[in-house]
Amino acid sequence: MQYDEVMIRYGELSTKGKNKRIFISQLAQNVKFALSDFEELKVHGERDRMHLELNGADSDAVLERLRSIFGIQTYSPVRRLERDIELVKKVAVEMIKELYSEGKTFKIATRRSDHDYELDTNDMNQLLGAEIFSQIEGIKVHMKKPDITLRVEIRKEGFFLSSKTILGAGGLPVGSSGKGMLMLSGGIDSPVAGYLTMKRGVTVEAVHFHSPPYTSPRALQKAKDLAAKLAAFSGSVQFIEVPFTEIQEEIKKIVPEGYLMTVTRRLMMRLTDRIREERKGLAIINGESLGQVASQTLHSMIAINDVTATPIIRPVVSMDKNEIIEIAQKIDTFELSIQPFEDCCTIFAPPAPKTQPKLEKAREYESRLDVEGLIERAMYGLVITKITVGDTLEAQQKADFSSLL
Ligand code: ATP
Ligand code: MG
Repeated sequence: MQYDEVMIRYGELSTKGKNKRIFISQLAQNVKFALSDFEELKVHGERDRMHLELNGADSDAVLERLRSIFGIQTYSPVRRLERDIELVKKVAVEMIKELYSEGKTFKIATRRSDHDYELDTNDMNQLLGAEIFSQIEGIKVHMKKPDITLRVEIRKEGFFLSSKTILGAGGLPVGSSGKGMLMLSGGIDSPVAGYLTMKRGVTVEAVHFHSPPYTSPRALQKAKDLAAKLAAFSGSVQFIEVPFTEIQEEIKKIVPEGYLMTVTRRLMMRLTDRIREERKGLAIINGESLGQVASQTLHSMIAINDVTATPIIRPVVSMDKNEIIEIAQKIDTFELSIQPFEDCCTIFAPPAPKTQPKLEKAREYESRLDVEGLIERAMYGLVITKITVGDTLEAQQKADFSSLL
């Protein structure tokens, strides 16, 4: 069925008091951005609801696109009709038939914002109810828990009918909680951490460390492909590549084996924090999960977190691997994440990193390096790319190919 409008309900947003206006305008902006290729579409962000006027845009495509926008609790496609009661009856029957199968119950729920209209809500419920009974054999009404609810709104501009409520992505509109730097590896955990933080309204920029020639271009591309998956939730993601080869080689040369991992992580954290400062981010996000590997014990966190006072958000810290994988599957990053490409951390990793590194030792070993010089050179080599939805390797190859024609 082709619809005329979509009605969006805010859910959690409605409880946000003063900030509500900011949330609504951020959401309206995100919705416009996500649907910018539908030029005919009009977005009206009102206090309690948002209305999208489709003006002929393909409603199935619009409904699908709305699924991944945070800040939407539920939404309903709506038919907008002339004030012609015969037409309303006909469409009401069509809409219920679309959802009906034997044994299902229904109810009509009318709201009237135009109080001058000759029928009141009761009249309307009864009129349409009677029509449904006469046209759909065997259907029963159920007031408390109907399977199908047909909502009818009587407004000055016409009749508005909806019968479906689709669950939105929940959360808060991306951008309404500021910006954070996601440490994005090619693994399973960090994309999930990014997704969960975006869900709470944070604009995420991806920071990825790579160490050519020890890590391949394919490993870098994998991280970019993951960023493209995350871009589905915000339209685009800034992807920041950090050249990490010199730092890893230096650490390998100078730091005792038991502390290679801890010092490497300290440098990653320092660099991410420097990037955050330059780009006016407010937090760092990573995919650490407590106890998963040696770098993710509480002792390690103390030794690594020591380099900054910036809030570190660890959305998956208390999750089991299965729980993380379940989310990775839902957001379609899992298959990409399990592709076997070497990560810069694993290549230089000693066989047995310390699970209980001492803070004093970590500091002492790190001080043997020219930390500032290393950081400056890495900062000088940053490469920043804007990644948009669908910006995968395949898409890029196609783009390259077409430019040759
Ligand atoms: P992931 O599945 O996210 O790779 P992991 O369980 O493999 O996590 P580690 O490899 O120890 O754990 O990494 C812990 C966290 O450090 C990652 O979740 C990520 O946030 C960050 N990290 C690791 N490697 C990189 C990298 N090459 N670039 C950016 N961040 C990284
Ligand atoms: Mg990893």
